[in-house]
Amino acid sequence: MKMVFATKNEGKVKEISEMLSSMEVELMSLNHFESLPEIIEDGKTYLENAFKKAKIISEFTGETVLADDSGLEVDALGGEPGIYSARYAGESATDDENNARLLDRLKEVPLEKRGASFCCALVLFETNGNYHSFEARWQGIIIDESRGDKGFGYDPIFFCPELNKTAAELSPDIKNKVSHRGQAFAKLKDYLGSITK
Ligand code: IMP
Repeated sequence: MKMVFATKNEGKVKEISEMLSSMEVELMSLNHFESLPEIIEDGKTYLENAFKKAKIISEFTGETVLADDSGLEVDALGGEPGIYSARYAGESATDDENNARLLDRLKEVPLEKRGASFCCALVLFETNGNYHSFEARWQGIIIDESRGDKGFGYDPIFFCPELNKTAAELSPDIKNKVSHRGQAFAKLKDYLGSITK
């Protein structure tokens, strides 16, 4: 099965190819296409953003397209930063700046009220116009001290109590099994398995 993954980030494509390695899926990134339409991620939910990307790219390329959107939701902040996770501290903010802003917003909040979840939405948009969505969450706690040097984004301050580690202390293999993205991909794999049987 041929599939375009709606990203220009080859690192992400590699990670996702590994997650789907047991399936017969030929994955292409957006780097295979020219003059792509500009997509403004202005949805109110991860699902709306992923759907918009998948639909526009599928209609443009004529291929089945997979798109994702994800973010971090902190309970004590009413779900912030949510869909604004990548630009929490400003349009071109670095991961360190976003993490610093989040910790500043949480400075009066005690550890027992620091619950948070990473969320991921995936949309598979097929050439016949049908689509399927898969969502998952990964719960943890936001800690003040950065720990670990793997991963990206909020990983160093996202502590997973079950594993007694931050997301940045987990090997990619383990993170891909337990994370919001890993769990959403597991659902996608179940679906792909069911249609290719
Ligand atoms: P995107 O879905 O790749 O655009 O991710 C949106 C933003 O959410 C990222 O820039 C990160 O700030 C945050 N984020 C999503 N997934 C993760 C994760 O697995 N670890 C750390 N941060 C994440």
